[in-house]
Amino acid sequence: MAPETNTTFLAELPLFAGLDAAARARLESMVEARELAAGSYLFRQGDPSTFVFAVQAGRLEAVAEGDGGPTLLRVLSPGDVGGLTSMVVAKGRSATLRALDPARVLTIPKPRFLELLHSTPALAEAMIAALSDKVRTKTVQVASLLGAEARATPPVAVFDAKPYDRDFFELHVGDGLGFRYFEARLGPDTVELAKGHRVVCPFVNDHLDRSVIEGLAAHGVGLIALRCAGYNNVDLAAAEAHGISVVRVPAYSPHAVAEHAVALLLALNRKTHRAYNRVREGNFSLAGLVGFDLHGRTAGVIGLGKIGRCLAEILVGFGMRVLAHDPYPDETYARDAGLELTTLDELLKASDVVSLHSPLLPSTHHLINAARIATMKQGVVLINTSRGGLVDAAALIDGLKSGQIGAAGLDVYEEESDYFFQDRSDRVIADDLLARLMTFNNVIITSHQAFLTEEALGNIAATTAGSIREFLAGRRRDELTHRVPPPTTN
Ligand code: NAD
Repeated sequence: MAPETNTTFLAELPLFAGLDAAARARLESMVEARELAAGSYLFRQGDPSTFVFAVQAGRLEAVAEGDGGPTLLRVLSPGDVGGLTSMVVAKGRSATLRALDPARVLTIPKPRFLELLHSTPALAEAMIAALSDKVRTKTVQVASLLGAEARATPPVAVFDAKPYDRDFFELHVGDGLGFRYFEARLGPDTVELAKGHRVVCPFVNDHLDRSVIEGLAAHGVGLIALRCAGYNNVDLAAAEAHGISVVRVPAYSPHAVAEHAVALLLALNRKTHRAYNRVREGNFSLAGLVGFDLHGRTAGVIGLGKIGRCLAEILVGFGMRVLAHDPYPDETYARDAGLELTTLDELLKASDVVSLHSPLLPSTHHLINAARIATMKQGVVLINTSRGGLVDAAALIDGLKSGQIGAAGLDVYEEESDYFFQDRSDRVIADDLLARLMTFNNVIITSHQAFLTEEALGNIAATTAGSIREFLAGRRRDELTHRVPPPTTN
């Protein structure tokens, strides 16, 4: 880029806007452009302050290292100017600046900048204005951090919290981040609990409809930090309308979920759950426990995203022929992984095992229904570790009764929210479909536990804490790394 362009860019910034032609000409001779690769540093905390700078392209993060670890202070984007304080106060850099994207930064060496400052009243005035603005912003930030409510209340309300959530989230407490744990789920009756918190952290069965979002907005909540991948339980349009950001954990361990799908498949096929009970009762008979070799059989993976891919690779390892269906197929990946991409109809017709890994969307609700079950292979094993709403439970029961479905492994159930994650052993089960499913000896139901590994819980807590720190540090909504974008209106 030509130096004139650099000066033109600088001249449009408020700091330099008042310079006359002579001062601009001098500025032109001072500017040096630096290209930064993503991940590289402009300077590190403690380095001597030798230049003032303006970001011309890309984004940089300012991170301060404290006793409690690194804290994201802000993200600088094109037009942001930095290093002004250290032009008038002799001190080293107070933070580390690292490029988040390929970035271009214009720098002016300190002695040259001071020369210009001393000789140009317009620059001195603009400098005072810029520094005053900075002081005002910092004062507001500090006041909000030190406010009585903030001191008394940790910023994050974690709903539907279990002991294992607490264990992993507590590892991230410090530097203004703290959690209050509520066993209750977030919903219309519990939204009052969010009062005084800037962030709520719900899970899969919390219910954030429009009325709950309105309640959160009224209580000053600015961020919904979902500690799961799916976001079908949040009214995103309402959140957008109330200026509340939504973030999620896009991937915490696809392996955990895929491996649980395999656990269900192996247990059902080899009837391990029945063998275990028999042997405990002193019954060592093998009658009724015949399974089949997975090797050489055909598996159908519906939804070839992160989890579907992990599962497909495991099943290829078993020596299965693996069919996959995804409306947005990655043909190169499928070919390299040894998978056959196909239509949903063909997959259902040909597969001995069908595993669901697509998200729950209006278009995938009851993807597995009576009509589709009728087209599946007699005796097919159906595994659902994705979302309960993908399967019409009544149709599944009919399929199991007729033998069309040979076995079902369900980690999710459409109406799970009244039961899953809770000890309901002292009450009767009022849900007739769930109760009927539980009676089949060829059905294994687990309580939405596919994600429950140390690795996944650690990743969930770390990603969620990182998103919350970004928010607390003042990142703009569209700069939150794991933001769930609002729905498009067309
Ligand atoms: P992902 O976004 O990486 O992959 C989803 C895939 O489904 C994408 O490739 C998408 O193109 C595809 N898809 C969309 N519509 C489809 C359709 N109509 N038919 C077939 N495929 C379709 O998501 P992921 O991380 O692999 O997770 C998959 C699902 O697993 C999530 O939506 C979530 O509901 C569920 N999940 C469950 C648990 C658990 O503990 N049981 C944990 C994490 C995720």
